[in-house]
Amino acid sequence: MRLRFWGTRGSIPTPGKDTVRYGGNTPSTELRLKNNELIILDAGTGIRNLGDKLCRSKKPVKAFLFISHPHWDHIQGFPFFKPAFVAGNEFTILGGENDKVALQNLITDQMNKIYFPLQMNDLQARLKFRPVAEEEFEVFDAQVRTIYVNHPTFALGYRISQGNKTIVYISDNEPFDPVLAQTIHNVEPGIIREYLESNGDPNQRIYDFVRDADVLIHDATYTPEEYRERQGWGHSHYLFTLKVAAKANVKRLVLFHHDPSHTDRTVDQIFAKCKAEIRKRGYKFDCVAAREGMELKV
Ligand SMILES: [Zn+2]
Ligand SMILES: [Zn+2]
Repeated sequence: MRLRFWGTRGSIPTPGKDTVRYGGNTPSTELRLKNNELIILDAGTGIRNLGDKLCRSKKPVKAFLFISHPHWDHIQGFPFFKPAFVAGNEFTILGGENDKVALQNLITDQMNKIYFPLQMNDLQARLKFRPVAEEEFEVFDAQVRTIYVNHPTFALGYRISQGNKTIVYISDNEPFDPVLAQTIHNVEPGIIREYLESNGDPNQRIYDFVRDADVLIHDATYTPEEYRERQGWGHSHYLFTLKVAAKANVKRLVLFHHDPSHTDRTVDQIFAKCKAEIRKRGYKFDCVAAREGMELKV
């Protein structure tokens, strides 16, 4: 399998001279399976450049789009994804939904006339929407598993395996704290409901889900110092990210969803601190910080 990162920034696009190396586009990652079949992970603004590349190839596109959750930074590139406007292309969009809003609306309500000039019926490609909860299924000939992670409202993580290789994508996830969870009253489908119902340890569920992955792409939004002020916002500090990778025995960790206030230099510093921590603790996995344009072979 091959990965290419088109957007690595969390929360909001951050163009400018201080973010040119890691990039300013919000999350979108191209995953190519063994026979070049395409799975797109999230539709942040990075998906626009991926779409332009797909259009230049002039071939019909049949792909799956896995949405982690409908926060703006994971869907806002979709109305600018040109291949969705081209007849003959086909996209199956997977993601979670809740009792109030169906998956299709979670993605396309942002194209309401008030907010956007083109509507859903301007999209000439064949679009299929497939809501998923925690389950296992096949896409092309890859095995896919999903899990609810700890993020406001709900968010899914994806585990994709083909042959003996596995990639796990968890873009937004916060260390689970039972005390904090009890203060959250609006219980959506997701990890908090699961916790309240089963009383299992949700962090352990994540470690088990990620177990032995070749590549783990995981939220590393904050420094531990920043996290103290931002508990409950749904994101990880890098020490937790390293802990997930170590507990799950992954081979390679990709630091992802960089905070919009972090410049290239800040991300460099976080990356250097992660490398030092990995050495100090004797962890065995490799670590990289996701950059726009970065490619990984798995
Ligand atoms: Zn996000
Ligand atoms: Zn989010």
